[in-house]
Amino acid sequence: MSTSRRTLLKGAGIAACTVPLAAPVALAEGFDPRPGSDGAGDPLYPTLGNGGYQVTHYDLTFDFTPVTYDFTGVVKMSARATQDLSAFNLDTDGHTIDAVTVNGRAAPFALSAGASGQELTVTPARPLHKGQPFAVTVAYRGNGKAPRTSLSGWKFGTDGGFACAAQSSRADTFMPCNDTPSDKATWTFHLSAPEGYVAAANGELTGKDKRADGSAVWHFALRERMPSELLGIAVVKGTYLYGTSRTGLPLRHVVPQGQEDTYGPIVARTPDHLAWLEAKFGKYPFSVYGIHIYDGYTDALENSTLTLMGTNWFKPNADGNPTYENTMVHELTHQWWGDSVTPDDWQQAWLNEGPATYYAALYSQERGWSVMADKMETTYAGLNAVRAKDGPPGLPRALGGTNIYDGGALVLYALQLHVGQRLFDRIMGQWPRRFKDRTVTSEDFIRHAVDVTRDRSLDPFLRDWLFGPVNPPMPGHPEWSAAS
Ligand SMILES: [Zn+2]
Repeated sequence: MSTSRRTLLKGAGIAACTVPLAAPVALAEGFDPRPGSDGAGDPLYPTLGNGGYQVTHYDLTFDFTPVTYDFTGVVKMSARATQDLSAFNLDTDGHTIDAVTVNGRAAPFALSAGASGQELTVTPARPLHKGQPFAVTVAYRGNGKAPRTSLSGWKFGTDGGFACAAQSSRADTFMPCNDTPSDKATWTFHLSAPEGYVAAANGELTGKDKRADGSAVWHFALRERMPSELLGIAVVKGTYLYGTSRTGLPLRHVVPQGQEDTYGPIVARTPDHLAWLEAKFGKYPFSVYGIHIYDGYTDALENSTLTLMGTNWFKPNADGNPTYENTMVHELTHQWWGDSVTPDDWQQAWLNEGPATYYAALYSQERGWSVMADKMETTYAGLNAVRAKDGPPGLPRALGGTNIYDGGALVLYALQLHVGQRLFDRIMGQWPRRFKDRTVTSEDFIRHAVDVTRDRSLDPFLRDWLFGPVNPPMPGHPEWSAAS
């Protein structure tokens, strides 16, 4: 609560400071306010995100009623203008907007259709100057099951609650926001949950205020910057299970109520997975981690600090091996590759999925569950057809294809065979440290590989693998072939 109050005061103070700047003489000095664009320029999602500002902090108050799925929300967004702004947009989808203020003053707003979701256009009472911090408050409401103009990120369990799977473009079904991976911010959350339910969100649980009716408001803070696509709010009938990693990192998992005995030993594998990955990428980049296991979801998603996984994962395979651990390692790898270091747009998504797939396969091999070279040869054989149909790993035409997952892992496998294990480990190990908290592109990765190895030939080598229409020969495996 104190954070949000400080945010508003900060915004109000800055608005007062702009009064002298708004004098006619200052206005003549090139102040040229125009509307920010309705998209951040993502090649795969042109109207995702918005131009003209960058968010520094989101403070979300969310009051959800289980079973009816009604909710009210207040999002307080602290941002900085990146151009002189007469108006700007937020992404939203399926909400009723009740009120908008900018720097504490009521601001006119309008909703219009976008290519994915809707655009909320806000016109501040005073135009904003480039570089100026400003505070926006949006009060809104809706229903989790209300129709959306685009896909919904809401996941409903048998408990009447919900979890959030927003990647890649669905955070705007929970809250108005700048829904692009290129805009990362810190976050605070204040989530209401009735008696019998728990709330969960990204970051640390910082407090809980009980109310007379048995409900509570749960407060969370994520101090590292996160894009909206990794939003991980939930209100569920769950149990918090706590632990610590071998280096003392606090762990908090959320598992279905009454099934602690089933899922406790599974989430207790996390310290081993963390130790295995920290040996490769260095210290885990956030201040808490855990897995939220929920029957309302059937996939797995690397929401920052709180991976979401469906209950359906957790069955041993036919050999009796717990190969769901590969998926746990995949999502944990993302905390470095995707969450701490984030793609600047969705065409760079192989930088998330390639490493997550590669290291899950490596983990599986080390446990004796599969052979990495076999998986890579199979991927190699099929990838030329995938390149032709869906685009090469570094230039996908859409998300979700094997080009960015197995194809991305194959690029890393080729790199490892080409430069050798020692240099490969150095490239992969230094990346999360060098680009921690930032957004990146394939070009950054190519430059990084050259910088670390001082081998300029890696530039064309990686370019051919990432962007070429056909597979280059696999180093050390000239016999591998691929149908076109
Ligand atoms: Zn993944």
